[in-house]
Amino acid sequence: MSASISQFRSQADSAINDLPLQEAIDTATGNFWRGREGALEELPDSEGLRDHFKAIRSATLAQLDEHLESFESNAKAAGTHVHWAEDAAEACRIVIDIGKTRGVTLATKGKSMASEEIHLGVALEEAGIESVETDLGEWIIQLAGDPPFHIIAPAIHKRRDEIVTLIENASGESLQSAEIEDLVAASRRLLRSRFLSAGMGITGGNILVSETGSLVLVENEGNGRFVSASPPVHIALVGLEKVVPTWDDAAVWLQLLARSSTGQPLSVYTNVVTGPRKVDDEDGPEEVHIILLDNGRSQLLGGKYEEILQCIRCGACLNICPVYREVGGHTYRSPYSGPIGAVITPLLMGLEEYPALPQASSLCGACRDVCPARIDLPRMLVELRNDEVEQGLVPWSVRRAEEAAAWMLMDVDRYRRLTGLMRTAQLPVLKDGDLRMPSFLDPSKGRKLKGLAPRPFREIWQSELEGGDG
Ligand code: SF4
Repeated sequence: MSASISQFRSQADSAINDLPLQEAIDTATGNFWRGREGALEELPDSEGLRDHFKAIRSATLAQLDEHLESFESNAKAAGTHVHWAEDAAEACRIVIDIGKTRGVTLATKGKSMASEEIHLGVALEEAGIESVETDLGEWIIQLAGDPPFHIIAPAIHKRRDEIVTLIENASGESLQSAEIEDLVAASRRLLRSRFLSAGMGITGGNILVSETGSLVLVENEGNGRFVSASPPVHIALVGLEKVVPTWDDAAVWLQLLARSSTGQPLSVYTNVVTGPRKVDDEDGPEEVHIILLDNGRSQLLGGKYEEILQCIRCGACLNICPVYREVGGHTYRSPYSGPIGAVITPLLMGLEEYPALPQASSLCGACRDVCPARIDLPRMLVELRNDEVEQGLVPWSVRRAEEAAAWMLMDVDRYRRLTGLMRTAQLPVLKDGDLRMPSFLDPSKGRKLKGLAPRPFREIWQSELEGGDG
């Protein structure tokens, strides 16, 4: 998929004019960010903790190779198979090879943005392995054939009646008058049989702890625990930037993750996987595989975009973003939406494929203010805009208009003369302070476009200073 500027605009238009969708986005994101504020207030020094977390993430990335090698050696010592995947195709191939070797025909899946990033579901299907999402939101969008709408709440765009129909069709039960608890119970009945018959469970991973070679998996539904513990084989697909050296570092990460995403002090389940089941264990998988996914991440190390690798996918920047909250997740045409999506998608999947995304921001800075890792997303959005100009990705007409604006703004006298001329030129289309352009010339598509003020600010200011009436 890709997001050209025209595709982005047309999808944004549809989302903005879809009033039930607007209400759904407002409710979900509003609940999340109010929850975040309350949860951070409970901490004695949340600002200090965020500073500390930023320092942990920066220092870890500065020596990422060492931490990953140490993770690999400790994970192997615990009995885990560690694989390195350079790109999406290699990651999919590793998963399919493991499944095929063990004769797997059904795999259960926990929520994983990395698997969305590499389109693992499609690859498994093509390889003849059925994969069933088990996070409720992910399962609903799988039934609907939709991509995720939000990093942590993939199905917030779905109306209740749509969800009822999807679960009815999947379960064969009549659920039109069902309460939410009944819908969840019907889903659970259906998914439980899949949990028990799957030959392989696939999850993502929130944190890799180098000192013990452990994988930390947080979730709220218990499905992640089932997926990672019930089938004989567990595969975790994790971006290679998700490593921390020690459990102390992981504890800081965990203190901020759920608070920043859903407003919980901690997710309901924090699963730790350190190798497969041991001889005396009653449950757990016989094999654990961790795939360290690169897919463009290592190219960002040491450069102006390295900071984006500090992201822990909490979703806080989506919930506060005035653009995401209007246009919604599907407009970005990437599994990663909102401010994090506007930066990471072009970096991992190609700026030429997603030229609209760096423009999808007012640069208000709200995303940086809420980010637990204090990632400077607005700086990187501006850098990406620069890259677009340098790579010739900006349309000719926009480039000429921007060059003309720069030429005008670089000389004060020129600026004054030209704005004076524009004040006169606008008179035929000026009404009550607004420009009323003929429709074929109207760039605002019906929105109000302010004309230039009758008097420039500098004149008003000057007369104020001189004691005039302004
Ligand atoms: S950029 Fe920051 S706020 Fe946004 S998802 Fe990543 S960690 Fe969360």
